[in-house]
Amino acid sequence: MRKNTISRLKSELNTNSKVVIIGHKNPDGDALGSTLGLSLFLEQFGIATQVVMPNGFPDFLKWLPGINTVLCYDTDKSECEKKLLDSDFVFTLDFNHLDRIGSGLGEFLTKLDKSFVMIDHHQEPSDYAEFMLVDTHIASTCELVYEFITTEYSEQKLTAEVASCLYTGIMTDTGSFRFPSTTSKTHRIIADLIDAGAKNSQIHQDIYDNNAESRLHLLGKALQNLKVLKGFSTAYTYLSQEDLNTHGFKKGDTEGFVNYALSLKGIKFAVIFIENKAEEIIKISLRSIGDFDVNTFARSHFNGGGHKNAAGGKSDLDLKSTLAEFENMLTTYKEKLS
Ligand code: 5GP
Ligand code: MN
Repeated sequence: MRKNTISRLKSELNTNSKVVIIGHKNPDGDALGSTLGLSLFLEQFGIATQVVMPNGFPDFLKWLPGINTVLCYDTDKSECEKKLLDSDFVFTLDFNHLDRIGSGLGEFLTKLDKSFVMIDHHQEPSDYAEFMLVDTHIASTCELVYEFITTEYSEQKLTAEVASCLYTGIMTDTGSFRFPSTTSKTHRIIADLIDAGAKNSQIHQDIYDNNAESRLHLLGKALQNLKVLKGFSTAYTYLSQEDLNTHGFKKGDTEGFVNYALSLKGIKFAVIFIENKAEEIIKISLRSIGDFDVNTFARSHFNGGGHKNAAGGKSDLDLKSTLAEFENMLTTYKEKLS
């Protein structure tokens, strides 16, 4: 969905405009890359931008250009609210429901009378935005930001910093250019970003070769906990709060763990369950290969959503009951999974 108003947006943005750009809770490479890339781009025109995240970000993204200017709502609530009240436009990137940014910030935005912009690639967008650039077939929000800035500001060259931000989100959301959502157009955009100065090899190193020893041990634990349900072409694993504490868990440490379960031969559906005692939930990441739709599965059972092959959700039951319930619900999907 490309509401034709998106091109009107450019004419409404001017050097006096104040813009807040928000990404989703537990921001990943695409959420941070798209918000920072857009922010750095708009700043060139004298537009005042502020990136706001619901909460903090993982160490492996802390090198991103502009990251030190980001405000986090959980630690800087009043400053974030001040910026939002003072803004003309609120851009929401890489999510499409206000429940994806945590209840505090979500409720604040629900009451905020501003012009909202949604740039996003998730299924089933809600209807809070006046301006929308939404395409659920596109692999990353960064590709949509690239589309927005290269069509609406075609005379402007991309800086190396903007290119690095957008490269990062495309790389992480395509699983380093290997998921089916990766197209020739994705690669053309990537080529353009490298030409604009994105240091592709360095970005791969900064993100994937930056492990703390404790993270590899945590991965070891997740692999030990792996359970394969061959009859359902399903594999899942879990990490209890104790597992996380024992291995010095830091935000972002479990990113990508679910893909090990999915990498098993013959497995079409993979899930990781991660206990979060502070929030009293089990956070769930679901992945699939082929037709099995984890977005629908996450929506139906775990109050979540996402994409057909990658989704997330949560459970309010304890870890043991969540796992038992999950195994139980698989029986209804036997046909779809075999
Ligand atoms: P991940 O498993 O990597 O956290 O997320 C996979 C995909 O599902 C991402 O596109 C993410 O935005 C989405 N997602 C993760 N958790 C949730 C959730 O609780 N609700 C919804 N609607 N989407 C989620
Ligand atoms: Mn994304």
